[in-house]
Amino acid sequence: MRAYDVILKKRNGGKLTKEEIEYMVNGYVRGEVPDYQMAAFLMAVYFKHMDAEERATLTEVMANSGDRVDLSSIPGIKIDKHSTGGVGDKTTLVVGPIVASLGVPVAKMSGRALGHTGGTIDKLESIPGFRTSLSEEEFFENVRKIGIAVVGQTANLVPADKKIYALRDATATVDEVSLIASSIMSKKLAGGADGYVLDVKVGSGAFMKTLEQATELAQAMVGIAKSHGKKAVAVLTNMDVPLGKMVGNSLEVFEAIETLKSKGPEDFTLLCLNLSAWMCHLAEKGTFEECFKMAEESLKSGKALEKFREFVKYQGGNPEVVDRPTEILPMTDNIIEFTSEQEGYITTIDTEKIGIASNYLGAGRKTKEDTIDYRVGIEILKKLGDYVKKGEPIAKMYISEKSDLKEAKKLLAESYKFSTERPEPKPIVLGIVK
Ligand code: URA
Repeated sequence: MRAYDVILKKRNGGKLTKEEIEYMVNGYVRGEVPDYQMAAFLMAVYFKHMDAEERATLTEVMANSGDRVDLSSIPGIKIDKHSTGGVGDKTTLVVGPIVASLGVPVAKMSGRALGHTGGTIDKLESIPGFRTSLSEEEFFENVRKIGIAVVGQTANLVPADKKIYALRDATATVDEVSLIASSIMSKKLAGGADGYVLDVKVGSGAFMKTLEQATELAQAMVGIAKSHGKKAVAVLTNMDVPLGKMVGNSLEVFEAIETLKSKGPEDFTLLCLNLSAWMCHLAEKGTFEECFKMAEESLKSGKALEKFREFVKYQGGNPEVVDRPTEILPMTDNIIEFTSEQEGYITTIDTEKIGIASNYLGAGRKTKEDTIDYRVGIEILKKLGDYVKKGEPIAKMYISEKSDLKEAKKLLAESYKFSTERPEPKPIVLGIVK
């Protein structure tokens, strides 16, 4: 076989065999297929796409390129959750403890910040002492004892994706459905769960800007999961506004704890309950409606909060963060109000710009080696549909001496649009793909 012939076949719209996909992916990982041929192959896929069978094969070949976690020694149905990435998305911190408190084991690998979106692992690391790297024994032990462990991805998890993603990033081939779906689902399959709840974000703060694009991605991911004998549901959720009010690492942990105390923002709480209910439903704890009620009860009774305390303690963090979050978490009182330059209803918040503004304050990384400042971020005081007067505060910036305040302010100013007419409110859950 020659890489040239596989590229030519896909360029002409042909359907690839398992052997051809293996030849390209495994050859690329081993260094036998050079960057320029893989780049041409990816561009051919970008324009000619893949069908469901090719996608499932690509995902499997990628998943098999490195370690595969075996969760079979943990009793029960293991359901993983994945978010395609958004701004202010701290759902794992709330959903994990809720479902663990309801007897669904959470044995989860999470990611770090990517682009304008935050990462669960960075957020957890803002809790003093919290270890996101556990030995295999500790990881399994924690899930067996308390029902939950969340760690960073192992170094050898889907090496094919690491290499191919870097090439896609450099060759304008990131945003193709088969390539995104196989990239995400290969990591999910390698993680070893029995089923997946996929939170597919839609809107200005998401990678998928329209409901149509997001639905296509959701169908592709659910299709891949099912073709591998896994359970899956995708929840299409609104990312036209930051989720909740807080954007930034410590700030989001604080908001997650408030939500576990039933004092969180409505949109974020409702999303957490929905995702928890789907996870419990896939784990065969009841109908979706029954599971939703169980999730609500776990929050109301404080069971989920106590599970979060245990989770923090078992991973080396200070459990008192639950009682005194603003004292234990790294916080700053260097806060600047951002005021509205106009009067009217807020009709648009360019959420990607809010994520980038937060990064300019120091909440994200400019390079892989960069360190994150856990203290900084943005608090959204006014959301879509709120009426504001000129000069009224619409956001707060939590800053440090290193924050690039000028860039952050510019982005915030650009991200808000106003009108004399109140926009129609959008629900947090926009659709379900099963
Ligand atoms: N997240 C991933 O892991 N892969 C993609 O291709 C896009 C988002």
